[in-house]
Amino acid sequence: MKFSDIPGHEATKKALIELADSDRIPHALMLCGVSGIGKMMLARAFVNYVHCTDRRDGEPCGECRACRQHASFNNPDTHFIYPIVKSEKSKVLLSTDRIAEWRKMLETYPAMQPEKWLEIIDAGNSRPRIYVNDAEYIVGAEAMSNYASNYKFFIIWLPEKMGVDAANKLLKVIEEPTPGTVFLLVSNEDSEVLPTISSRTRRFNMSPLTREEIETYMLKRYPLKDYEAFELSRLAEGRISKADDLAGFSEEQAEFESLFRDIMRNAYSKKLVVLRTLSEKSAAFGREKLLRFLDYMARMTRENFIYNMKMPQLSALRRSEEEFSKKFSPFINHGNVEDIMNEIGRASNDISRNGNSKIVMYDLFLLLIGFLLRKP
Ligand SMILES: [Zn+2]
Repeated sequence: MKFSDIPGHEATKKALIELADSDRIPHALMLCGVSGIGKMMLARAFVNYVHCTDRRDGEPCGECRACRQHASFNNPDTHFIYPIVKSEKSKVLLSTDRIAEWRKMLETYPAMQPEKWLEIIDAGNSRPRIYVNDAEYIVGAEAMSNYASNYKFFIIWLPEKMGVDAANKLLKVIEEPTPGTVFLLVSNEDSEVLPTISSRTRRFNMSPLTREEIETYMLKRYPLKDYEAFELSRLAEGRISKADDLAGFSEEQAEFESLFRDIMRNAYSKKLVVLRTLSEKSAAFGREKLLRFLDYMARMTRENFIYNMKMPQLSALRRSEEEFSKKFSPFINHGNVEDIMNEIGRASNDISRNGNSKIVMYDLFLLLIGFLLRKP
């Protein structure tokens, strides 16, 4: 993780880089701010930067041994502590038990959201906590000598999830750790962090990003049109996590739009070979995505019918969809809309029941030929 991968937060970045460059890193820091704004990304960039043996213009080099270890979440001087839930398998509750899931979390959702973490660890109704076992682990590990760097870090995600028993065990080491140990707390609700802990840290308060910062980030990271990035950035509430969600959806949306157009055009012109290819293409989505695509087909059928009925006030077409609907909507009418909707619904049912996706989709496309050519 590089600082330049993270949008905004210029003042905090600068302050952290200065601490590292001056080699005067406080023994306990806390990054505070609402969920999803990039605090963990910044924590990771900072620790990577501190460990890098070939820093370049305020960035880690990305090539040295430490940088490579950080890229694969395997740096021996970096310990992650995070909330977990009780499992039946083990009585000892250690973060490292869920290290595989944790790496997946960092990789998939770098801007972090507690809800995603609950999904990944399959928390069900349990509330995740940082348990006393992790505090004991920290006390043991912090006393040991460092591997390669002058600094070893304990990055504690959501210290507000730490119980009093765990916090009490940590008081002494956070107050006065072994030289070379740094505690780096990343909190979404710092008012909930036990004061005995938070009062011992140097705080950095981080705000949600500006709309412009989110827009720039989205344009850099996703294949969006300018106006799409603008529209989506207004919905992101200054959160990178939300921007990622919206843009991810948008990428899928663009894919669905173009596939829907291809299917309808080729059904209308009875191009069976192309339709077969398109059925294979959609089957390759996998079940969940294919079901979302069928929902999309149903929505577009309904929208085009409404458009054809000249009831634009009821239509919810995006700009790019409307371009196609101007020409296509006359083919969705009273004579076929119900049949098309029914067949899409039937295909959804078949797919949910593990029907062969390629066959189900190809059958649907063949039926569309008849429906589209039917006179109203
Ligand atoms: Zn490096």
